[in-house]
Amino acid sequence: PKAFSVLGIPVHVMTNYPGWLLECLHAGRGAHVVTLNAEMTMQAERNKSLAQIIQNAELVIPDGAGVVLYLRWLLWQKVQRFPGIELAEKLLQELGQQTTKTKVFFYGGAPGVAASAAEFWQQQISDLSIAGTHSGYHSSEEEAQLRQTLTQLQPQVIFVGLGVPRQELWIAKNRHLCPQAIWIGVGGSFDIWSG
Ligand code: UDP
Repeated sequence: PKAFSVLGIPVHVMTNYPGWLLECLHAGRGAHVVTLNAEMTMQAERNKSLAQIIQNAELVIPDGAGVVLYLRWLLWQKVQRFPGIELAEKLLQELGQQTTKTKVFFYGGAPGVAASAAEFWQQQISDLSIAGTHSGYHSSEEEAQLRQTLTQLQPQVIFVGLGVPRQELWIAKNRHLCPQAIWIGVGGSFDIWSG
């Protein structure tokens, strides 16, 4: 996709982000999705590995109002703000309408939060296949177990809600486990979905 620089960070501007992700999914093309806000660009200034990871992400979407305003000024065109949580919700709704089931995994949040977020979505969309969940607070043994689970399960969409920059670093380090998956850092979305 076409990228525009926001303080040195490439941001992709398109009209249908969920559609682009569905195409990746059907083609078995893995992707790391970053939803960019102003706070994150400032963190990236200080944290070079975060900056590098965002540079390498297949899709960087404008999440924050500041990023959108800057892009509007730069491009002289309307740029849709797409908050990360809305992208995640739209994608789940689209997945529920697909004829083939896509395996989704929720990782992050306090114990039980990802599980109740999964329950919430399963109730909303009965055709959704949430293949597994894992809390974001755990020992390194449990994390090794999680890696093994992901390797065996090969979920096609993996939401990681550990906060910034933890989730981006984790995705960059582990995405090779499921190279065909779409990995999205979703911040505190599980907290919201779990009610
Ligand atoms: N979190 C986690 N493990 C950690 C630290 C944080 O799972 O070691 C979770 C936390 O429970 C919360 C999310 O990460 O659900 C961070 O949410 P926040 O809204 O602060 O993220 P942001 O999008 O603002 O970075």
